[in-house]
Amino acid sequence: MAPLIAILLAAAYGVDKMNTAPRQVKKKKKKNVAFEAPTTTRQIAIPPPPPPPGVIHPIFRQISPGQGGRLFLPALELASRFLTAKCFLGFWYTVFYSPVEQLRLPLEGFPTTPGTKHYGFTTPMPSHLSRSQIAITDIALTDLASCVTFDLYSASPERAGARCKHLRGLSTPPPFHGHRSCIQVSEYFYDMLSDPGVSSADKTWLQFELAKTLLHELAHAALNAARDKGSKTHYFFSGCNIAEDGFQLEACLFGGKTDLRRSEFHDQVARQRLKIGKSAEPLIRAYLTPWPSWEAVEEYRVRGSLIGIRGRVPSYPHGREVRFERVRRLFTEEPWEEDVKRYGSLRLC
Ligand SMILES: [Zn+2]
Repeated sequence: MAPLIAILLAAAYGVDKMNTAPRQVKKKKKKNVAFEAPTTTRQIAIPPPPPPPGVIHPIFRQISPGQGGRLFLPALELASRFLTAKCFLGFWYTVFYSPVEQLRLPLEGFPTTPGTKHYGFTTPMPSHLSRSQIAITDIALTDLASCVTFDLYSASPERAGARCKHLRGLSTPPPFHGHRSCIQVSEYFYDMLSDPGVSSADKTWLQFELAKTLLHELAHAALNAARDKGSKTHYFFSGCNIAEDGFQLEACLFGGKTDLRRSEFHDQVARQRLKIGKSAEPLIRAYLTPWPSWEAVEEYRVRGSLIGIRGRVPSYPHGREVRFERVRRLFTEEPWEEDVKRYGSLRLC
């Protein structure tokens, strides 16, 4: 790590302290801080302003325009803005810098497979960061670029989606001491976004979905890099009974979990290929449900994936419809801070 970065880290730890919250489990205390706490204090540099729309974050710059990256540009720009907006940096600060403690297992009523470990972040996710905290979080996100690769044309068995593949044999460069990840995104996005039969309105939905999906998987990759997280290791954010880093980030951005409904859209795409009509209105619909939700746990169980649970989770069978116009405006220069200050996240409904 460059000396400047060390100085910034040192200053941050010397000047800023996160609020401490009552710990849920006091029995075993195993500190697992991703970065070592520096010992000196120095004047910290003022962090640069957030990039305007159109700037691609270093993490996504490896996606070459020549390989279809130009097609994904709106999603990459939006994902970059999600990643650097100050109002959302509290999530990444927690992932990189919050101390954790190991939580007690097993729990009655919530069986786990052998080898499962639960950790809890001991500080609540901050809604506001100081300048020095912003600086060290921005630096860690830039460093994360060397820990992640992308495959945007993955022959995923799912129609749409992605996964964060652990690259356990590849350790991360400093300052991280975990392992690298490959974010595999279904070729579905490329197919749909390059299909002339898909309306520009539906492509806006898909660009939004792609940006959200990239961020979701990046949350997993950040835990892999900073905490060397294994597939049976789960990190619980303060106040949440389910450990799923990606959905936790989505909740931070949008106040819940958004799901696209596409059956009518796919019927129409099939008809387009037979040259039957074309709609200018979006056919995709999206619904927002609070996080955590029992339905998300069920989704995981159906897929056979592992998810950490430490208590009862409320059920939300019906979501609220997301407004297309609100999603479309995310791609403009409209500022987000006021929305987040008022509603706690971006208001999509
Ligand atoms: Zn996930």
